[in-house]
Amino acid sequence: MIVATARDFRNWIDGAWREALGRQIERRNPGNGALVSRFRDSTAADVNVAVATAKTAFRTKWSGATGAERSAVLARAADAIRRRAGELAFFEMAESGKPARQARLEIERSSMLWDYAATQARSLTGDSFGQLGATYFAATIREPLGVAAIITPWNFPFLIISQKLPFALAAGCAAVVKPSELTSATTLLLGEILKQAGLPDGVVNIVAGSGATCGDLLLRHPGIDMISFTGSTKVGKHAMRVGADGMKKVSLELGGKNAQIVMADADLDSALDAALHGAFLNAGQSCNQGSRLLLQSSIAAAFTRKFVDHAAQLKVGDTQADGVLLGPIINKEQYEKIIQYIAIGQDEGATLMLGGTYREENGGRFIDPTVFAGVKPHMRIAREEIFGPIVSILEFDTLDEAISLANDSIYGLSAGIWTGNVSAAMTAVRSLNAGTVWINTYLDGPAELPFGGVGESGIGREVGKLGVEEFTDIKTVQIRSGGYSPRWIGSEIGRTDA
Ligand code: NAD
Repeated sequence: MIVATARDFRNWIDGAWREALGRQIERRNPGNGALVSRFRDSTAADVNVAVATAKTAFRTKWSGATGAERSAVLARAADAIRRRAGELAFFEMAESGKPARQARLEIERSSMLWDYAATQARSLTGDSFGQLGATYFAATIREPLGVAAIITPWNFPFLIISQKLPFALAAGCAAVVKPSELTSATTLLLGEILKQAGLPDGVVNIVAGSGATCGDLLLRHPGIDMISFTGSTKVGKHAMRVGADGMKKVSLELGGKNAQIVMADADLDSALDAALHGAFLNAGQSCNQGSRLLLQSSIAAAFTRKFVDHAAQLKVGDTQADGVLLGPIINKEQYEKIIQYIAIGQDEGATLMLGGTYREENGGRFIDPTVFAGVKPHMRIAREEIFGPIVSILEFDTLDEAISLANDSIYGLSAGIWTGNVSAAMTAVRSLNAGTVWINTYLDGPAELPFGGVGESGIGREVGKLGVEEFTDIKTVQIRSGGYSPRWIGSEIGRTDA
């Protein structure tokens, strides 16, 4: 990995760096306090320029480009991302505190999303209707929605922008992107990468800044045609309300409280590995976190013991140190929230099997893997998204019970089941309320497959063919090549189709 030094960033507007007008924001590594990046908050004037630039570029440069032209830019962007992977991985790691190897894998996976979107730019099609009569033909055309406001969270910054932006560009949209103020660097670097890839100036504009000011201004801007938001359910609801006022299309990827079900007949070694990875990846700060582990009673005690033994060995700390898999908690607010939930779990009567320990040291805030057993469905630790390295274990006897427990949530992002029984797996597929159901695997996500949630986990889908279609609207075209029958002139008034 390239170890870059701290860097001053600016907004990326019309193909060039441009200083925003707001206060300076400093970003420090949450694991050790080292300065990583600095940039200015964007003001209304900055957001206005970004949206106006995108609007013009949409009209004059990008909406009329051919699929082949868009595809070529996206494919070159994928290559440019791979060429700059070391630098991107450094900033991804340093701003979020995640392990370097994980950051590197996320950048590689992101480049594949750009590759895939390149193929889709040439494959976007509508429907045709050839059965309406000899002289009557109709078709639907998919047209880009216009300028998309893309707002992303801090936890997988480059991966999440790569789940949205290449798909918007493949559809022919222009964009104004606002990354999280906690992890803005890699998204800002995309500006340079897209220019290198030959994207016309102004098609993508990136504004850095806080959610309450810059993000909110962007949501409300009348020049925005679509809002594509990933983040908390609370802010997602706000985006939807604001979007309704402007009658904008809104696509939301929000929180989760995902259940992993382990049946007694499963490959328990694989289930154990997936349960650990699903629970503690990114120190549990993941929308897809398997935060509810549902165990069949006959294996619950033994599985819990092994889960706890392995979790106890996971190294926690500043990810600059060797072998650390769980990095810091992103900020003070989130650290305090997680600690509160540890107390809530104990007060509610759950059994603390592991962890519950936390510390501030050398400029970072860390929470050890924490496992609660004997969790009951009414407890807050079974219902609310904690967004930290905390797992709630619940027990069940039958598959029906497991499905009711899994579905007893306001969220519906993803769910998993481990079983050797095909019919149990199929019952789970049909019955689980979730946008993604994993059977005997967890957290896989190839670029071909759509991703999104139901319930309070969101609205809309991203990635895959649907990921491009999300950024389009349908125009219906009707053509008569003769045989038009007059309805008013020289015809009987009052015909049913008048
Ligand atoms: P967040 O909601 O606090 O922030 C997300 C983005 O919204 C940031 O860019 C932020 O600056 C911006 N924002 C905040 N207030 C705003 C406002 N009033 N107007 C406009 N923009 C505003 O979320 P976070 O802490 O960055 O991320 C964690 C949350 O994101 C968790 O709930 C997690 O489950 C969710 N998430 C969901 C997915 C998914 O794909 N479903 C993926 C990753 C994270």
